[in-house]
Amino acid sequence: MFGANFQRKYALTDQGVQNTKKGTFWTVIVNLVVMGGVGILYLVMSGLMETLAGGVLPVALPVLAGLVIFAFLSFLTHLQQYKATYGLVYGEVKATRLRLAERLRKLPLGFFGKRDLADLTETLMGDVNRMEHVWSHVLGYLYGSYISTAVIAVCLLWYDWRLALACLWGVPVAFGLLFGSRKLTERQAEQIKRAAVRVSDGMQEALENVREIRATNQEERYLAGLYRKIDDHERIMIRGELVTGLFVNGASVIMRLGVATTILVGAGLILSGQIDFMLLFLFLMVITRIYAPFDQSLALIAELFVSQVSADRMNALFDTPIAEGAEVFQPQGHDIVFDHVEFAYDKEAVLHDVSFTAKEGEITALVGPSGSGKSTCARLAARLWDITGGTIKVGGVDIATVDPEVLLTDYSMVFQDVVLFDDTVMENIRLGRRGASDAEVMAAARAANCEEFVSKLPQGYQTPIGENGAKLSGGERQRISIARALLKNAPIVLLDEATASLDVENETKVQGALSRLLAGKTVLVIAHRMRTVAGADHIVVLKDGKVAQQGSPQALMAEGGLFRHMVELQSESAQWQLSGARP
Ligand code: ADP
Repeated sequence: MFGANFQRKYALTDQGVQNTKKGTFWTVIVNLVVMGGVGILYLVMSGLMETLAGGVLPVALPVLAGLVIFAFLSFLTHLQQYKATYGLVYGEVKATRLRLAERLRKLPLGFFGKRDLADLTETLMGDVNRMEHVWSHVLGYLYGSYISTAVIAVCLLWYDWRLALACLWGVPVAFGLLFGSRKLTERQAEQIKRAAVRVSDGMQEALENVREIRATNQEERYLAGLYRKIDDHERIMIRGELVTGLFVNGASVIMRLGVATTILVGAGLILSGQIDFMLLFLFLMVITRIYAPFDQSLALIAELFVSQVSADRMNALFDTPIAEGAEVFQPQGHDIVFDHVEFAYDKEAVLHDVSFTAKEGEITALVGPSGSGKSTCARLAARLWDITGGTIKVGGVDIATVDPEVLLTDYSMVFQDVVLFDDTVMENIRLGRRGASDAEVMAAARAANCEEFVSKLPQGYQTPIGENGAKLSGGERQRISIARALLKNAPIVLLDEATASLDVENETKVQGALSRLLAGKTVLVIAHRMRTVAGADHIVVLKDGKVAQQGSPQALMAEGGLFRHMVELQSESAQWQLSGARP
């Protein structure tokens, strides 16, 4: 019952399975003790009946002692059940969140670009919370009730099978109805979940883009969209509750019909003189006790179905392959060699048979129309994703064999979307290399032309920069990012044409900083504008995920084709060039 399937189904840790067993055991004991109470009540009532019929009161002392023992046992077992179900579950919640976090840490970095962050947060927080309720309130309780009811049903059948059938028939029918509705309930749960993620996505997007939305007077249109998502969520939730309520209450009513049939059959049996009234009384007391846990169980089963969606989402994370590899990386130089590389994010291939070499000390530019695979190549070069065919080698070492964290120590990435933390300028730059001294941080900042704007900040390097650098301009953010890369001084630099969004003055400043960063490194730059790449040593032109042309800028211009076409299209804005890799 509690095997590997069970563990996976409810996303439990090994300890969680043990806890569930304990919870189940104590629930069985609690239910049986409660039945013992019914037995005592039966004895008392029988005694009273006999007294009424003119007999003597049966020894009151043993009955009294029985009551006291019952009360004591009841308290003790309830306490144990409580500890086993509620007490232990907090450890399980913590262990599961840590297990998920550990998994996230080892997943290929590219995974985070693909998965929606609101969705991931929902798994870490919402799904775990939902499972917590299942672990504490449902599993032990439900499985315990199954077992104790089976035991009691056997006793009842043995006592009087006719009455037993009359009172128990409703139980399988009610459960049948619930299990029959399972697909529907699960589908509803899935829809609710998706609607909830859409709402939180919408909120996040609105908050992130509040400036753009206001600047373009789109509030009303935008809010209308958001309200629609919220209304959708509400509607789907109400529908879901209605479906669940219908089945749960239907099942409960069916089960309660058992009381009526027991009375009918019992009355018949009494009239024909086959049983006495006290037996019917005993059965009626027992079934109300059986119904009590099952009444709750019916609602719990519905919750169990719904929770399956959460457990599946957690399992999907545990099933995503993690990127592993050796902890040592000793390349001979830092040439990056793509050799017949194939790649697909999902099913559809994005790169086909891509081969090129980015040499150390040179600037290699990736150019091509939007969507041709430039960013993908840059991500693959740092093993943010694993490729599906071919090899990528750095200094002769296949990067698929190197632990991504170790590999990344040799990379600096300067991408357009610079991520800054709500900390001081100093600490934001220090992220480039943990443990760097203040003097080293400031030297990097100077080399990246940060000095000039930092000195204008109220507390210089100690100025907090607000959430995601809200107090800095685009150019200042880029320069912080370059300072980080300078501080790290890694032999490979991946550059997403970092200066694309800047004004001319800032561009020149960032340009100077970049030249210092790139000197002598292996540089792979994703170029969006042709004038950027005229100074590159080697150009790889991508089109639809294939290498259309490659060679020096001069050779490609002479050759004609896509490169020359793109250069000619953009030639009006030739203002500056990348340079600096040659020491
Ligand atoms: P470029 O940088 O040249 O604009 P990309 O490398 O970003 O091109 O994209 C190449 C192709 O891969 C495009 O068709 C794009 O839609 C797809 N793609 C990019 N990133 C992802 C991703 N994270 N998941 C799925 N498909 C992606």
